Parts: sequence; structure tokens; C-alpha cells
Amino acid sequence: MKQTINSRPKGAGRSPKNSKRRLLEERLTAAKRLRAVEDARFRARQAQGKLRRFVSANFRKQEVIDALALRRGECNRCGACCEILFKCPFLKKHTDGTSTCGIYEDRPNQCRLFPIERRDLDEVRGQCSFYFIEKPIKLERAS
Ligand code: SF4
Ligand code: SF4
Repeated sequence: MKQTINSRPKGAGRSPKNSKRRLLEERLTAAKRLRAVEDARFRARQAQGKLRRFVSANFRKQEVIDALALRRGECNRCGACCEILFKCPFLKKHTDGTSTCGIYEDRPNQCRLFPIERRDLDEVRGQCSFYFIEKPIKLERAS
């Protein structure tokens, strides 16, 4: 009988080698899918964070003052906060790894104040050199 291009010899595709390859392909596909989901979640968190910081920096000044009282450290000029969700067109990267803002004097409040809270640090995957201390516990006066 003439063999067509789609016809397989008996048992083809069931050899241990083929099964192993198929298993590997399935695992790779599952890993890719998981990564895509994690990436989408991370980007959604970044989008929420951008919006939250915009509102806080412009409309919730007292909350920002209180939050910044817990912030410590200095900016290392890594520029990671200027690449949250997308790379800001005003970001200038330098060969020494530092970066500057092309509109530094006029940059938005949310840029001036980053990071406002500890959770903001998650959006730059640990690149920020600022950190936050715990809120001090108020001691009651003994009666
Ligand atoms: S405006 Fe300046 S500080 Fe703000 S994200 Fe862009 S480069 Fe960064
Ligand atoms: S991520 Fe933090 S350390 Fe890096 S440029 Fe922004 S504020 Fe500075």
C-alpha cells in the first residue's frame, strides 16, 4: 500500500524518545503560560501603583508626609522607577549605569516622591536603594 505524507508507521509517536519530547514540550508550554500570567499580574500591579502614587502625590499630601517619615536611604539614580510599566521618554541612561531625568526641575510630584510606601519597592524588583522602617509604636503613659 502507498504511504501518504500523513500516514505514520505503526507505533510511531509512542516511542520513549517521543513521549519524553512531548512531556518536555508540555512542561515548557506550561512554564511559558505561568510566566505570562505572572508578568501580566506584575504589570497590573505596576499600573495600580502608578495610579495610586499619582493620587497620593497630588491629593493626599498628609498621608504622603506620614509615609515618607518612615523612609530611609538615598537614591542611587538607577532609573528603575522611570521604567515602571514603560520607559519614560524623558529618562536618560548613562554609560556608568546611572540615569537622569530630562525634565528634572519640572518632573511630576509622583516622580519626586518615589518611593512613597514600602509596597512601591516591589514594582522595581528590588533595585531601589530606599527602604522603610516599621511605624514606631506609641507608648502609653503609665498612670
Ligand atoms: S519624568 Fe523624569 S523622573 Fe519622571 S519618570 Fe520620566 S525620567 Fe523619571
Ligand atoms: S528606583 Fe529608587 S534608587 Fe532607583 S532612581 Fe528610582 S528612587 Fe532612585
